[in-house]
Amino acid sequence: MSFIEFRNVWKIYRMGNVKIKALTGTNFTIDEGEFVVIAGASGAGKSTILNLLGGMDSQTTGKIIVDGKEISEYNNKKLTTYRRNDIGFVFQFYNLVQNLTVRENVELATQIVKDPLDIDETIKAVGLEDRISNFPSQISGGEQQRVAIARALAKNPKILLCDEPTGALDYNTGKQILKLLYDTCKEKKVTVVVITHNLAISAMGDKVIKVKNGAVESITLNENPVSID
Ligand code: ADP
Ligand code: ADP
Repeated sequence: MSFIEFRNVWKIYRMGNVKIKALTGTNFTIDEGEFVVIAGASGAGKSTILNLLGGMDSQTTGKIIVDGKEISEYNNKKLTTYRRNDIGFVFQFYNLVQNLTVRENVELATQIVKDPLDIDETIKAVGLEDRISNFPSQISGGEQQRVAIARALAKNPKILLCDEPTGALDYNTGKQILKLLYDTCKEKKVTVVVITHNLAISAMGDKVIKVKNGAVESITLNENPVSID
């Protein structure tokens, strides 16, 4: 059995009388420890997939299996526990708390988590040990994204979900962030899923799932993902 499986997943949003088919029978699998890129144009359904996988929303029909559990059957309480303990989120615009320091931002994320990692070790792992007392406004965009990655990793999640993690960064800084995510995936055996509309990023995925109009258009395995040094 695969670590993650989407089996014939549909998501239909209702807005008044209008139905929007965001996912129309999506199927794919992801292995444990895989670095997966979900690519596609704006409106293709990428965020919908990430929201369902992260337990932030529920499918209309279909099955979603994560680590042997059918999360598509979970009630809200179970979904909250799942989201809190099993999933780390990284966003395009970092979403740090501005009046907390780097360390406090990471610490906050670990507070209600079952089995968090050591805060200072995690900050060191993203290369920010000299920045622990700084506030977000005192560090660069790339450093803020590193804090966001540390915050997500400190929860000791099974899956790291990244929504356009380099979208607000310049090319070189973005490359460094992708490298950090890739190395983290391989060294810590965390499954990483990155959504992007940037095809250059796709070349880095062990697996690239292309979505179009709510359906999987293609799934490509890269034997030798493009190196990002
Ligand atoms: P992507 O992330 O690839 O840009 P999304 O998953 O955000 O795509 O959106 C897929 C489709 O679902 C789009 O047509 C979008 O407008 C629609 N959609 C997304 N979220 C909602 C929502 N909360 N309510 C209504 N329609 C939505
Ligand atoms: P709390 O545990 O404080 O009640 P939640 O259960 O709502 O918070 O969220 C648990 C985790 O899911 C947190 O790490 C939070 O950052 C993330 N999360 C919750 N809602 C969203 C959302 N709409 N978008 C992105 N991440 C979210």
